[in-house]
Amino acid sequence: MRTVYRGKIFTFNQCATLLNLQGVIPGNLFVDDEKFTFLRDGAMIVEEGKIVTIGDYHKLKETLLPEDKVVDYGNKLITPGFFDTHMHATQTSGVGAYGEKLLTWLENYIFPSEVAFNSEQAGRREYDILLNQLFKNGTTSICAYLPTSYDGADLLFDMTNRYNMRAVMGNTIMTDGNKNLITDPQTSMKISEKLYNKWHGTDRISYALTPRFALSCTEETMGLCREFLESHPDAYTQTHICENVNEIEDTISKFPWAEDYLAVYEKFGLVNDKSIYGHCIHLSDSEWSRMVEKGAIFANCPASNNYLGSGLFKYKTAVERNAKLTLATDWAAGNTLSMLRVMDDAYKVAILNSFKLETLTRWFSATLGSAKALGLDKYVGSLEVGKEADFIVIDPEANDLLGYRLESSYNLLDYLFSLSALGDDRIIAATYIYGNKVYSK
Ligand SMILES: [Zn+2]
Repeated sequence: MRTVYRGKIFTFNQCATLLNLQGVIPGNLFVDDEKFTFLRDGAMIVEEGKIVTIGDYHKLKETLLPEDKVVDYGNKLITPGFFDTHMHATQTSGVGAYGEKLLTWLENYIFPSEVAFNSEQAGRREYDILLNQLFKNGTTSICAYLPTSYDGADLLFDMTNRYNMRAVMGNTIMTDGNKNLITDPQTSMKISEKLYNKWHGTDRISYALTPRFALSCTEETMGLCREFLESHPDAYTQTHICENVNEIEDTISKFPWAEDYLAVYEKFGLVNDKSIYGHCIHLSDSEWSRMVEKGAIFANCPASNNYLGSGLFKYKTAVERNAKLTLATDWAAGNTLSMLRVMDDAYKVAILNSFKLETLTRWFSATLGSAKALGLDKYVGSLEVGKEADFIVIDPEANDLLGYRLESSYNLLDYLFSLSALGDDRIIAATYIYGNKVYSK
């Protein structure tokens, strides 16, 4: 059966890029540009989880079938679901832990909270809460760090897959550091192999080899990671880099042969166009160049970076170099799951560095830009014919101040800027994954 969703519709189109969006100033609120579309009264027809038609409602009305179900969202906005490219599925109970920078925050709050995932019951309850919060915030795709154990990680793969979510995930590999979380390198890789075999390519799931960061891995582990990627070149990699100045110093002390942080990962073959690097705040010019050249993915997390006082990401450099820039929460150092709040923090971080990160650029980096960076844009990221129907419905008037502000909105940039400046989970009216409603206010 086909379902017709009617309402305002905003989406990027396939040809949009970071570079060609920066500096675009649409003259009107409702525009139909080749890079993006904003329909005043649009319709999107969904059949078996895929978008089969999208366009102006009055033009499509003649083609509707008597048996089509129409869901009329009126003045609300239908737009792609958000893609959160860096988050920790194991840190929900640690959110809002107070008063530390990265390394002490991990030791004092996060590592102890992650041990809970050794218990299936605790893990199930906590991840259930997290998934519901994600949907409430309009996030439909994630790249997630899962528990270190096979059973803990397998449970979260299974719970994610029950919603048929498009997700990139992997068991967190730790072989050095906190005694309650580490395993030996061989065991870690056996867990990775087993989870890859079971989940990679199952429905909408992709596997990501997930060495937590260089400080939590031995050289033996990193060598095994290289072997894993050589034999599974279609797997993603996700890890952290240059989040915090002490972390960088400790990494260079641990691997004294490395000329810089990135060189540690390079030596073990972990930098390619499927590598997702969290944070990237304090990269040197050389590291920026090498990452861009290899096509590595920048998962920048401004809410987290502000929360832990980690530093200011260089958005100007990312845009100028047309880097694969994506936005992410880094839940739960990021104290919000709202990508609207993350976009707002990105704007503030950029302007602290005297750079205006354009509204369209930020929305792109939270939707189609992430899908493109990960090579998943033939499936998700925008509302175009043939793509999977992952979308949200935004009701700006659910926040009366935002509703009032939008009465005087004068063009598309102003409209989207106001949504990200004042919006949060209150304005997400509904979230759909593969055409199924997973959240409704
Ligand atoms: Zn992280």
